[in-house]
Amino acid sequence: MRKPIVAGNWKMNKTVAEARALVAELQPALAGVSGVEVVLCPPFTALAAVGAALHGTDLGLGAQNMHAEKSGAYTGEISAGMLRELGCSYVILGHSERRTLFHETDELVNKKAKAALAAGLRPIVCVGETLAEREAGQTEAVVTAQVGGSLAHLGAEGLLRTVVAYEPVWAIGTGRTATTAQAQAVHALIRRLLLNMAGGSVAEAVRIQYGGSMKPGNARELMSQPDIDGGLIGGASLEAGSFAGIVRGAVK
Ligand code: PEP
Repeated sequence: MRKPIVAGNWKMNKTVAEARALVAELQPALAGVSGVEVVLCPPFTALAAVGAALHGTDLGLGAQNMHAEKSGAYTGEISAGMLRELGCSYVILGHSERRTLFHETDELVNKKAKAALAAGLRPIVCVGETLAEREAGQTEAVVTAQVGGSLAHLGAEGLLRTVVAYEPVWAIGTGRTATTAQAQAVHALIRRLLLNMAGGSVAEAVRIQYGGSMKPGNARELMSQPDIDGGLIGGASLEAGSFAGIVRGAVK
């Protein structure tokens, strides 16, 4: 059985002091929760402080992006090895904000995923269609291309260490959530694509998160769908009560 995974993507929010305060509130809010993997993804500047605060707990640490190269003349960038050194076990790759605002392609996301895996990080690879693509009936084609391109040549072992996040772009930060049927349909498609790429046992083991305006009120229903294995949470991860409410919704 796949263990649900809920990750909080704090985006460009929280100073170091605010990050420490949020972790201090989250720890009691999550007390007694078991059977769900929880990962916090603060901005780079707060990784060390959040990592220190999480030391000795079950909560994992993740970054929101990284560069594909190991080192070199890439001003302003951070490598997978540097993230490992800070205690990260996960890294979000190909978030729609990175794809849209920073022009990241499937090819680049794939390069980053390979570099992350080589450094011992688990990538959380985001895919999802825009509203225009959904309305044009292109959801399946878009997601198929993103999964094929972003996850190419990771191998069975790499895929098993990868999490896929289906995040319809029209649902991110908009308050508009995919219906459970819409989300489940795309998650089932992604699992079929994984099956074609790496076979049934890999496809059955890879966790596929849903992301897009997930809240305590809709989390349980979404995550009770057969192919939805947790959530990638933006806005609602910035407040301990709402994030903990979502995590509790993932408990089977
Ligand atoms: C996200 O940015 O990954 C996300 C899902 O954001 P939100 O929960 O705010 O829609």
